[in-house]
This record gives sequence, structure tokens and C-alpha cells, in this order.
Amino acid sequence: MAIAMKKHSHYGHIIKSRISSALWQAVVERCQRTGETPDHVIESALAAELDISHHTLFQVSTSTALVQGIYNGCMTVAEIKKHGNFGLGTFDSLDGEGIMLDGEVWHAKSDGSLALASDSELAPFWATTNFLPQTSERLSEVSSWGDLCQQLDKLRKSQNIFTSICIKGVFKHIQYRVACKSGQGTDLVTATNSQAVFNLNDCSGTLVGFWTPEYAKTLNVPGYHLHLLSDDKKFGGHVLDVSASNLQLMLAEETDFKVALPESAEFLQADLSIDPSEALAKAEGAK
Ligand SMILES: [Zn+2]
Repeated sequence: MAIAMKKHSHYGHIIKSRISSALWQAVVERCQRTGETPDHVIESALAAELDISHHTLFQVSTSTALVQGIYNGCMTVAEIKKHGNFGLGTFDSLDGEGIMLDGEVWHAKSDGSLALASDSELAPFWATTNFLPQTSERLSEVSSWGDLCQQLDKLRKSQNIFTSICIKGVFKHIQYRVACKSGQGTDLVTATNSQAVFNLNDCSGTLVGFWTPEYAKTLNVPGYHLHLLSDDKKFGGHVLDVSASNLQLMLAEETDFKVALPESAEFLQADLSIDPSEALAKAEGAK
């Protein structure tokens, strides 16, 4: 049986291959059970068989540096793309929210606009991976952000492994914020006091992000951190609250962790020995 893979993103390749009826049936059953596309199932299986690196989380700078107001961009979007096709971050001077999906990087700004980021834009903080789901589930009902977190908790196997999270569907209600451009040195709590908050109803889109272990709180935002990208590419931002039915969830464990540290004077001289938990909870959660 021949299959054609038509990848929806520009970096993909189309393969035609003959596989047995039994294999095809297994692919179809998996897609029916989880809502995944055949592309996802086949790509995951090939990557696993060929031992392609897809368990690596690559990160630019640290959460504590962000808490301390180190917002000068230190890595270009082009460079970040070399390390993954999926993730989130922010841009130079904390100018909005970044969403990376299928190899494209989107820039949400505090005026509510969304546009493709240029390769030359700089990020002061970013996390990315080559996303290949290991677990796929349907979430029949999600009543709130807290409820979503509880449901995801049950599906993660360990408190000690970084997890990439992709959730697709129609969000009955979603509340998200977009950080406002801020001066270097303004701490994150102060900077996000003036964030723009948006609410959408019946938004079809994808939530992209990560779960970070508590022990890694000085490096990345502990717990769940998700950014929205609407299917029509009009809306995006850092998710504060959500309700929905019948969502498709995909998870991948990230067991390798790489961090690129800025070499700027601000980073070299910052006090990064503080516990950023309280500031991160204030800055990244619902107000
Ligand atoms: Zn965020």
C-alpha cells in the first residue's frame, strides 16, 4: 500500500512508500484513537527507529535572568530554529510573546497583533525542541487552567523529566496575555504588571509549551507554560485560562537539556542565586 506524506510546513519532505496492510491498519487505528495525523504517527515511528535526536530541550538564557530583567536579545530566531521546530519564548526588550510551531516562529505583540518573526529578530529567552509526540490522548472536557494542569499531571510519568506539550482543538474560552515591551533591568513582576490581557471565545488553535520540573525552576518556568497560536494566525499569547471540550493532546518527554547562556555584561553581573519561584508565579500566572 502506498502512502503519501504531505507535510504542512515548508521544511518537510513528501515520501511515497509501500507498507503492509497490517501496518497501515495500525496507523489508521492509532489516528482514530488519538486524533493524530498519519504524518505524526509515521514521523514518530521513523524517528524512534532511526534514533533521531528528538528528546532534547534547547534553551536560551534562564528564568531567573528573565525575573531579574535581563531582556536584551542574545540569540537570533534563525539560530534558535537550528535547535528545534516547536517551542516558546519572548523577544528583545520583553516585546511580546513568541510561539514556534511546525518550524515557524510567530511574534505576538501587546497591541494584539500577530506576525511571523523575521530570522534576524533576537530573543532574550527561548525554549525549543524537535517535537515528536510519545503520548497522544483526547481531553473530553477542560473547565479551567487548574483543571487542565490536573489532567496533564495524571498523564505525565515523572516529576523529574521536562515535558513538551501540544494541545489542539477549539477553545470555548481562552484568556491570554502578551507582555509589553520593557526596559532592561525592570524586573519581570513589575514589567508584567502592565501586560495586555485578551479573551477569545470559540477559538480554534494550538497550545504549545512545556512542563518544567520544580528542581529546574532557576532555569525555566516551573510547572505548565503554554502559548496559544490560533489556526487563522491572527491571535497568540501566553495562556492564563482556558475551557474546552474534545481537545487533542500530545506529550513528549525531553531527557536531554541544553542551555545557551548569554555572554552580555548584564548576564555576567546579575545575581542569579535567588529563588525565582514567587516572582515567576506572579509574573506568569493569572493576576
Ligand atoms: Zn509565556
